Amino acid sequence: DDPGNVKVVVRCRAFLKREKEKGTQCLIRMDPATQKTTLLAPAESDHPNSRSKVYEDKEFTFDKSFWSHDLDDPQYAHQEDVYRSFGEEFLDHNFDGYHTCIFAYGQTGSGKSYTMMGTPEQPGLIPRTCEELFERIQQEPSPNTNYHVLVSYFEVYNEHVRDLLQPRTNPPIYLKIRESQVEGVYVQNLTEAPVRNYADVERLMKVGDMSRTTAATKMNDTSSRSHAVFTIRLKQITHSLLSDETIERTARMRLVDLAGSERAKSTEATGARLKEGGQINKSLTTLGRVIAALADPKRANKNRRTRDVVPYRDSVLTWLLKDSLGGNSKTAMVACVAPADYEETLSTLRYADQAKRIRTRALVNQDSMS
Ligand code: ADP
Ligand code: MG
Repeated sequence: DDPGNVKVVVRCRAFLKREKEKGTQCLIRMDPATQKTTLLAPAESDHPNSRSKVYEDKEFTFDKSFWSHDLDDPQYAHQEDVYRSFGEEFLDHNFDGYHTCIFAYGQTGSGKSYTMMGTPEQPGLIPRTCEELFERIQQEPSPNTNYHVLVSYFEVYNEHVRDLLQPRTNPPIYLKIRESQVEGVYVQNLTEAPVRNYADVERLMKVGDMSRTTAATKMNDTSSRSHAVFTIRLKQITHSLLSDETIERTARMRLVDLAGSERAKSTEATGARLKEGGQINKSLTTLGRVIAALADPKRANKNRRTRDVVPYRDSVLTWLLKDSLGGNSKTAMVACVAPADYEETLSTLRYADQAKRIRTRALVNQDSMS
């Protein structure tokens, strides 16, 4: 197996039109030489109304910092740069037979969906990964290897799992989570669509995103409250003529667009709330606890019995991502930050800082049959 730390990168987006019009001050600095990210204390006149809070400059260092704030800056990190920096590497891992997971964390409007899915003109990590996956299969096929690619797409909303590749129904159909020796934790009856080329994937991404968007307009910003999990399963079956052996490698790549991180705190502060709020929160707050426990296993051990140190099972999302977070996977976190929100950004950067300490143990997922 291959133990390693969760790779943590941070990306700062540009000002939106309204921020620019207000003459907002940018609170983020990034130093490309050291990968250092600095969060500056806002000018006194800009302090959000909490007078008691202390604002000071904070410094963090991550594996990579992406400066996507100012298009004219030579350091500007384009979608292509983000992909080349680690998306490509993660695809290599998949071809080597490792499971991978990339998840985007950050407040609503910080650029998670832009980074993961992007726009038709500026495609993000998911479309780029899929496109290159098929390029590799088509351009350099190993002579004795058969490739099978399957795609699934679901969302976790309100602690319910919904298949984004199936038409919406009323009442909605929620899928159950199961656990087995072979499969690990999985969603029962989830559509796994076989795809033959990038056009197939593109079609499915559209279907899934539409399903999310339709809900967003009807139910007031579902996409900021739901976690979207896009999964590609790459199966490579190689027959060696020499040894007359068939080797099957299956790698799963998970690309996760999390709900807005502001949800994790808002309900903590106010205690009991609408059932809905509390439930959405549950997956995010549990994710926070899981990350904390994984980052600091010794401390977690003191407080609980060893067996249930990490509270994966306390929420749907963490249960489903169990392997990706603390097990058989190579995992990366993209911490997305807005340029002018001191408190939310500090919270995101602290979260990311903790995630750096998590170690996973990835295995090559391979079976041989003679
Ligand atoms: P989130 O998914 O975190 O809520 P979005 O990805 O929807 O946030 O981003 C919010 C807005 O900012 C969108 O209009 C998006 O197009 C824009 N945006 C985000 N990141 C970037 C970036 N790096 N460059 C240009 N525009 C961006
Ligand atoms: Mg989004």
